[in-house]
Amino acid sequence: MQVINPANGAVITEIPADTREQVQSKIEKLRKGQGLWADVPVEERLAAILRFGELVSDEIDNLAVILTQETGKPLQQSINEIKGANNRLVHLKANAKKWLVEEVMVDEGATKEHIAYEPLGVVANISAWNFPYNVGYNVFLYALVAGNAVIYKPSEFASLTGLKFRELLWKAGIPANAFECVIGTGEVGQMLLDADLDGYFFTGSYATGRYIATQVAPKLVPMQLELGGKDPLYVMDDVADIKQAAINAAEGAFYNNGQSCCAVERIYVQAGIYDQFVEYFVEEVKAYKIGDPMDKTTFIGPLTRKPQQQVLLDQVQDALLKGAELKHGGFSPEGPGYYFTPTVLTSVTHDMDVMKEESFGPIIGIQKVGNDDEALNLMMDTPYGLTAAVFGTDKDRALALLKQLPVGTAYWNCCDRVSPNVPWSGRKNSGLGSTLSYQGIRAFVQPKAYHLRD
Ligand code: NDP
Repeated sequence: MQVINPANGAVITEIPADTREQVQSKIEKLRKGQGLWADVPVEERLAAILRFGELVSDEIDNLAVILTQETGKPLQQSINEIKGANNRLVHLKANAKKWLVEEVMVDEGATKEHIAYEPLGVVANISAWNFPYNVGYNVFLYALVAGNAVIYKPSEFASLTGLKFRELLWKAGIPANAFECVIGTGEVGQMLLDADLDGYFFTGSYATGRYIATQVAPKLVPMQLELGGKDPLYVMDDVADIKQAAINAAEGAFYNNGQSCCAVERIYVQAGIYDQFVEYFVEEVKAYKIGDPMDKTTFIGPLTRKPQQQVLLDQVQDALLKGAELKHGGFSPEGPGYYFTPTVLTSVTHDMDVMKEESFGPIIGIQKVGNDDEALNLMMDTPYGLTAAVFGTDKDRALALLKQLPVGTAYWNCCDRVSPNVPWSGRKNSGLGSTLSYQGIRAFVQPKAYHLRD
């Protein structure tokens, strides 16, 4: 399999994809090792995970270059991601034992009642390329601490990073028969679906997630889906600082080139501050540095996947044909690499794909709204339910809207952020189940109820 650098289209390297036989033999190896790993005390499993975190920190410069070369993520953002993902280790250090040890529910009387939390077994982690550290750690680190064996399939666009995870996990003391990585395209993902594993944890698009759900359902094993979004942000007319709100919203929309599951994908602004907001927003976007992702000062690098250029162009064309105004960008510049100029569209409506379909790129529509009811109706007008943000001074007013929205995460005066202290989950087409928080620890175990009589 070729690994391509999206900044120039050059082949970085070729790596062998796993065959069906290799995938099967890796699964068999994990089957043999999982029980042994589960027998290791949770403190020791955690210690190995923390060692992994140290090895990642020691090698951060090299790991960031690998990530930037294979995904096009600007180098400083690669460094930020790797550093930031360490908060999962901090969370596990503080919480893993607390949520995994056996609980005594009734300790008096004739019958004692306990709950033991047992690992699921051998679980699949089919992952995405856009934040491989964050979304990978959310699954494989939590699964390993809980005593599972993990078969990890990185996206084909983050395979080198996936192989580094395996190298460093093994080096940190996670046994080779507790963690494995399989390399390849969706075909290799399919091989995991064809196998009888004890849990499936998927991060990726709605289309693939929905397909995976149909494949896993008859197995009657736990399944989690962390899928896409079309996340709205609403700016109320009482916002404290219009300029700051515009800067934050633009960052939420364009960080990682808009290729974040929780990127701001559509913006609604109350009429009284609309013109001012748009002016600050466009000013901010025009200042973004686009270019070589290996340059630490670059904010916008290439898209990771070439076909996405056409998806974005189509959204721009569709919007312009239906009456949108192009304030900035709207095209792929000439030259090598899968670049797309950050794009701002105004006078948009929900007849346009840019306000309805996940863009997953550096493009945003800003729509004027009269009041909170109109904003709420538009924010709800989506099959997705990942996150929603409201900017404004009046907390009660903002919360009144956020409470009504069917989303897994609600933001007031912030956006596009994930914390290990609270669950990460999507509703509707954005997914099933939660990672992170204590719920994300318990996602990787199954309870066994003990009724004990002396
Ligand atoms: P895809 O759905 O294209 O791929 C996700 C993973 O599934 C990849 O490893 C892919 O392999 C694999 N895959 C593809 N086809 C199959 C199949 N038939 N059987 C099994 N596995 C398969 O998503 P992307 O990687 O493009 O990720 C982008 C999407 O992920 C966006 O929609 C984004 O919003 C969402 N996402 C959601 C997050 C969340 O937490 N809610 C976080 C991050 C991203 P390969 O890549 O090799 O084709």
